[in-house]
Amino acid sequence: MSKVVAGNWKMNHGLAATRAYLESFQGAEEVSGVTVILFPPAISLTTARAALGNNTRVRFGIQHIHGASSGAFTGELSAEMAAEAGARYALIGHSERRHLFHETEAETAIQVEATRRVGMTPVLCVGETVEERRAGKLEKVLARQLKGGIGNPAELERITAGDALILAYEPVWAIGTGETASPGDASEAQGFLRERLGELVGAERGRRVPILYGGSVNPGNALELLSAQDVDGVLVGGASLEPDSFLSIVRAGAES
Ligand code: PEP
Repeated sequence: MSKVVAGNWKMNHGLAATRAYLESFQGAEEVSGVTVILFPPAISLTTARAALGNNTRVRFGIQHIHGASSGAFTGELSAEMAAEAGARYALIGHSERRHLFHETEAETAIQVEATRRVGMTPVLCVGETVEERRAGKLEKVLARQLKGGIGNPAELERITAGDALILAYEPVWAIGTGETASPGDASEAQGFLRERLGELVGAERGRRVPILYGGSVNPGNALELLSAQDVDGVLVGGASLEPDSFLSIVRAGAES
């Protein structure tokens, strides 16, 4: 499968900055063999799409959705709205949502289900804290978050197509800290996720699900991480904020 290189801008880049970024990001058009996904802030999504036009390799996603289609949920937006604005992917269970906004596994399951309703691909993020890793709970946490997000029978049934699910292994201690998991650590955790996924949906279907690594990926370490076993791509936060730095990670994806 081709590598996936995704950039999560978090709460950065309003409309003017989004236009300026994408003007400098045209080089992504020439890189083949990589699926490039950008997650701008929701308010910048349509501007981002318009800045690249329709003829582009870059796909877009939304950083957060509410599970309901509409209603009295001030400040939230639905999968339907995101899809209408051109999002093909939704980040779900990002560690900042789990830890800063106290989102639960039950909520991740509802959000995953909401993406199914509109035909978007959920990018389910899982990962352990440093305390959980030190206490030897890595596998337990990953298995719980995986099952919690996609465990319902309708979701498991859906995982027959290549674009039904993307997983991202994002150790909490490596996100935005400058501390990266070693390629060996990433492979080990992602190999475990692949195995668990295989138990849930069958090995053949499990193999079709891309598993990304995320946590302080930068132009200097991207190639090594992208070349590690069971690393099908990367989810990049800080280093995706500058077009040149993100483009060199995209190129590493093509090289790996
Ligand atoms: C992220 O936000 O998903 C992430 C991995 O951030 P960073 O690359 O900055 O660690």
